[in-house]
Amino acid sequence: MKVPFLDLSLQHRALREPALAALAATYDATRFCLGKDVEEFERGFGALLGYPRVLGMNSGTSPLHVACMIAGLGPGDEVITTPFTFISSAWGVSYVGATPVFADIEEGTFNLDPEKVAAAVTERTKAIIVVHLFGQPARMDEIMTVARRHGLFVIEDCAQAVGAQYRSTPVGLIGDCGTFSFYPTKNLGGCGEGGAFVSRNEEVQTRARHIRVHGSDRRYYHDIIGGNFRMDGFQGALLTVKLPHLTGWNARRRQIAGRYLAEIRLTNVRLPDQPDYGQSVFHQFTLRHPRRDALREHLARCEVGTDLIYPVPLHLQKCYAGLGRGPGSYPIAEAAAANCLSLPIFPELTDAQVDHVIASVNSF
Ligand SMILES: *Cc1c(COP(=O)(O)O)cnc(C)c1O
Repeated sequence: MKVPFLDLSLQHRALREPALAALAATYDATRFCLGKDVEEFERGFGALLGYPRVLGMNSGTSPLHVACMIAGLGPGDEVITTPFTFISSAWGVSYVGATPVFADIEEGTFNLDPEKVAAAVTERTKAIIVVHLFGQPARMDEIMTVARRHGLFVIEDCAQAVGAQYRSTPVGLIGDCGTFSFYPTKNLGGCGEGGAFVSRNEEVQTRARHIRVHGSDRRYYHDIIGGNFRMDGFQGALLTVKLPHLTGWNARRRQIAGRYLAEIRLTNVRLPDQPDYGQSVFHQFTLRHPRRDALREHLARCEVGTDLIYPVPLHLQKCYAGLGRGPGSYPIAEAAAANCLSLPIFPELTDAQVDHVIASVNSF
């Protein structure tokens, strides 16, 4: 039996008719940039997940960039974030000329360790970018305590955590703002690039709305420095078609993860912790094993697709060599990169495929 790591064609085949009808309507109306389809998606997303205000943007990287602009970051400012994430989590910091400063992660959840965050604060620290990695909310209470003590702006990168809550607050509403990605492989994926910005703070949200459209509220009048961060109409239209399925898709991901957690019994395997402050939406199911590469080869022989997410922590990426953090700087993140292995976990997996993944892991 073949189990691909991810197969996007199944979801899109199932939704082909309503999706193409929605895209055709947008096409016929030439609603290409923002407009009614995007507004409808913003309202639907907010109503479903509990966000008072939502701004559709043109990727998950864009709202992180916008957030760094709103935080007023610039050269000399330091922003604390995790080294174990997708590179975009740090890009915004670099775009505005500030400096990413990494703090090591917790072994059990792959998320920022609040004590390491506290230890990384200097008089130049201005913000923290928290990533809810793999769909698992980070330890926000402790991180917010550090942020309040030092007056830091907190950005939540929720790209992998759409639908997740931290102690019954939707992720993205605990810090000063939150960002989402609708890249096709995410739990809620568009037919192209997409993202969103949310904030519990109306002033922050208004600033983001202006920055999204060239720093303007009125066409051809530019009060602040902005950019082009608009979501396109096709993404709004498709995402609105997909939105009613999100809760079920996330529930299916949790069900599959529940089976992996209960039924994988390989010696020396380290399964992800399930803390009580926030249930994961399992964008990924990532385990660790000291013989990760051999396990991966074994699974490939069993026709089970896997991925290495992430093979290189941010501080060891060439682009950040200038930060001067060599091997050994963040040992827990480095160990995670060396022994992590992500299993297939998309909602369309059949029970028989899940059985096969479990049996294959257990037969290593
Ligand atoms: C996907 C992702 C992003 C960026 O999203 P894009 O839509 O690809 O720009 C940012 N942060 C994390 C953690 C992600 O997984």
